[in-house]
Amino acid sequence: MAKKRILVCGAGGFIGSHFAKRLKKEGCWVRGVDLKYPEFSETEADDFVIGDLRDPYVCRSVVDTKFDEVYQLAADMGGAGYVFTGENDANIMHNSALINLNMLEACYRRNVKRIFYSSSACIYPKYNQEDPQNPNCAEESAYPAMPDSDYGWEKLFSEHLYLAFHRNYGMEVRIARYHNIFGPEGSWNDGREKAPAALCRKVAVAILNGEDYIEIWGDGKQTRSFLYIDECIEGTLRLMRSDWTGPVNIGSEEMVTIDQLAKMIMDIAGKKLKIKHVPGPQGVRGRKSDNRLIYNKLGWKPTQPLRVGLEKTYRWIEEQVKRK
Ligand code: NAD
Repeated sequence: MAKKRILVCGAGGFIGSHFAKRLKKEGCWVRGVDLKYPEFSETEADDFVIGDLRDPYVCRSVVDTKFDEVYQLAADMGGAGYVFTGENDANIMHNSALINLNMLEACYRRNVKRIFYSSSACIYPKYNQEDPQNPNCAEESAYPAMPDSDYGWEKLFSEHLYLAFHRNYGMEVRIARYHNIFGPEGSWNDGREKAPAALCRKVAVAILNGEDYIEIWGDGKQTRSFLYIDECIEGTLRLMRSDWTGPVNIGSEEMVTIDQLAKMIMDIAGKKLKIKHVPGPQGVRGRKSDNRLIYNKLGWKPTQPLRVGLEKTYRWIEEQVKRK
């Protein structure tokens, strides 16, 4: 049987680089495209194009063959320090919207039948996420829309864009709303890192420098759920190869406060540190994945305890910190 030909957009980033590895393990032929090569390990893609997907000509040139599957993961994004300060909103909206507009058009022209789009839990309305112990992130709760960031608004716009190409042009589109994906080989100190990586770094740095505390943005009572990268990829592949479009949550239902996350990391590191709460960007008060729909449609949902993935992530970040 001929090898599946797959395009991964954003293959130089965290999720995209892990995706390329997984698809290679499955025996696919993989082309990656990104502004940069993966930072922490050699890409496993067969072909890697350095290109800017805001440029429609670049999009058309990377989609020069009829790919069996396209995974569109490229976006201008980051953690709270990048998306919730408001300072990067124009870039986030402009850059990511252009990437999606151009990639879809290029795939349509080339008759690519199946494309995955990585949306985000950030599309959910702020008014359903104000009680940290009881957030509502059921898929149908997305409307009336009121995301708390422009990053979320762009994701919502792009969900509609993909769904419109599905409706009008018959393209097979799959959409997942990712909830805080984490793991080794993601941003950890470049201003785009998310809570698990940032806290692993803070704990590892404090231990290395003999300090007895770490700082946390906000009161530490805000809640989130975090999904390990391998389960994110598993869920995405199952969705992509199903006959269902989505949008669907891909996330964990194990909700923790940010203080609990920090304490779990300290426990893994074997060191108890004090927590100093300081002002900083935080996002909504509470958020966790609601996995009823994915389980109902695909008979699958993530099950790995947070701690298992955190241990691997902490060890990797500890190594990076020691190397610096
Ligand atoms: P990432 O920042 O590590 O990867 C995104 C990649 O896109 C980067 O390598 C970046 O260089 C590339 N990119 C940006 N602009 C580009 C351009 N103009 N041309 C080509 N490449 C460009 O982020 P990630 O965590 O791997 O996220 C992947 C996708 O999943 C994104 O769409 C993101 O919004 C979505 N998502 C991620 C999370 C998460 O927790 N990581 C949560 C929700 C949604």
